[in-house]
Amino acid sequence: MNQKDIVVIGGGPGGYVAAIHAAHLGAEVAVIEKDRLGGTCLNRGCIPTKALVRSIEVLLEAKRADEFGLEIGSVKANLSQIMSRKRQIVDKLVSGVEQLMKANKISVYHGAGHIVSPRLVRVNTEAIAAKKIIIATGSESALLSITGVDLPGVLTTDDILELKELPESLVVIGGSHVGVEFASIFNALGTKVTIVKRRPLQLEPVDEEIGRRFAQLLPRQGIEVTTGAAVRAIKREGAFLRVVWDTPEGERGVDGQMILMATGRRPYSEGLGLSQLGMNVDGGAIKVNEYLETNIEGVYAIGDVLGQHMLAHVASYEGEVAAENALDHRRRVDYRAVPTCVFAYPEIAGVGITEKEAKDRNIPHKVSKFPFAACGRAVAIGETTGMVKMICDANSGKVLGVHIMGPNAGDLIAEGALAIQLGATAEDIAHTIHAHPTLPEAVHETAMGLLNGAIHFQRV
Ligand SMILES: Cc1cc2nc3c(=O)[nH]c(=O)nc-3n(C[C@H](O)[C@H](O)[C@H](O)COP(=O)(O)OP(=O)(O)OC[C@H]3O[C@@H](n4cnc5c(N)ncnc54)[C@H](O)[C@@H]3O)c2cc1C
Repeated sequence: MNQKDIVVIGGGPGGYVAAIHAAHLGAEVAVIEKDRLGGTCLNRGCIPTKALVRSIEVLLEAKRADEFGLEIGSVKANLSQIMSRKRQIVDKLVSGVEQLMKANKISVYHGAGHIVSPRLVRVNTEAIAAKKIIIATGSESALLSITGVDLPGVLTTDDILELKELPESLVVIGGSHVGVEFASIFNALGTKVTIVKRRPLQLEPVDEEIGRRFAQLLPRQGIEVTTGAAVRAIKREGAFLRVVWDTPEGERGVDGQMILMATGRRPYSEGLGLSQLGMNVDGGAIKVNEYLETNIEGVYAIGDVLGQHMLAHVASYEGEVAAENALDHRRRVDYRAVPTCVFAYPEIAGVGITEKEAKDRNIPHKVSKFPFAACGRAVAIGETTGMVKMICDANSGKVLGVHIMGPNAGDLIAEGALAIQLGATAEDIAHTIHAHPTLPEAVHETAMGLLNGAIHFQRV
């Protein structure tokens, strides 16, 4: 029988990172994957969507070429080539993970893993004896249980990534980060997009002010947002699908050629045999302690299957922590600085607490904001919409939250995450020399605003 120090079930950004980290620490490791290595993130999530987002960025910039003194004639999107570029990027990165498995001498088993006992895993007809097990089986789309959800033209986020033809109109049910990203992508491609939501668009845990400003920008881009709509059904009406909900005035609805169900994801732990093991599971989400160990000794769980943060970088972080703990280190998880990004236009990113949270929790705090319109690099690249906002503790000066809407927000947030992780103060950031002319100067200026005032911006 095959014998391993650690068997990882699921080869997404949680599982494959756990496996590589464990191999670096000297363990013999196997990964079991029932689909393609890379999981949701590489195959159906972060990477394919960001490949599409990049095509859109180029398209939008090309349409503004004259602003930059360039004459390039008319620009047209070609969906099949955009999708083909996306596929090539996904394949390249999946093959990169396969190479990393080989380079780190990690055995990869293709099939569905089943836990027979805390020391034995089965895949297809093979049994693998495992000293420790890490479950990293991810999540699946959570569809609303309403009539019409199975009609042709009603898409999951997996389906929309394989579209062959651009719909004339698209109704996005749910205004999650992912829903907003797809709304931005298809709107830029020329589809008429309507987001239908039960509650106001807030994009939690984005700072409320930034979320509100972002929501105001959507209609100006041509994206309609309908709130207060508890969707009851989807009906076919001729060439269109109609999403309907009830109001005190009667039934309301909105039509689209296609409907995207962006209604979130739920943890996926089917077929693992968890109930026979007596594992503590709630609605598919596996319960773990601060060392990411389940109630079954020697069995760990990480990533989306925990049903908590549901972000690729958190899954990978947890993969490292679980791998160390499975090899008898004692490392606690620390979620103080989890950055969140929304790759829409403009981009949004945040880390730490929001201004409202500081108020609600009666934390004595100070807030500083700096607009990108006052940042030289942002002006030079023609991306002046948005701002950086920083919240710090009024007594200690420690950075408690950083929230950004604007160019490269997802990259800029790393400085905020590092500040919170290190317990840095606004003064630490203000006293750090930032290269000029760069976008991080906007973060620097925001920190200066918490001390004696930003240099290049004066509130009047
Ligand atoms: C459209 C979309 C866009 C996204 N964009 C972002 C983004 O920009 N940034 C971000 O941080 N996150 C994003 N996410 C979320 C991100 O994809 C997930 O948080 C991340 O993939 C979770 O990693 P994981 O390893 O826990 O699970 P997954 O990536 O889901 O991987 C789990 C793997 O386990 C396998 N598996 C399941 N059961 C078994 C079994 N019994 N045996 C063997 N294999 C099994 C599955 O086939 C899968 O490959 C996005 C998600 C979607 C859907």
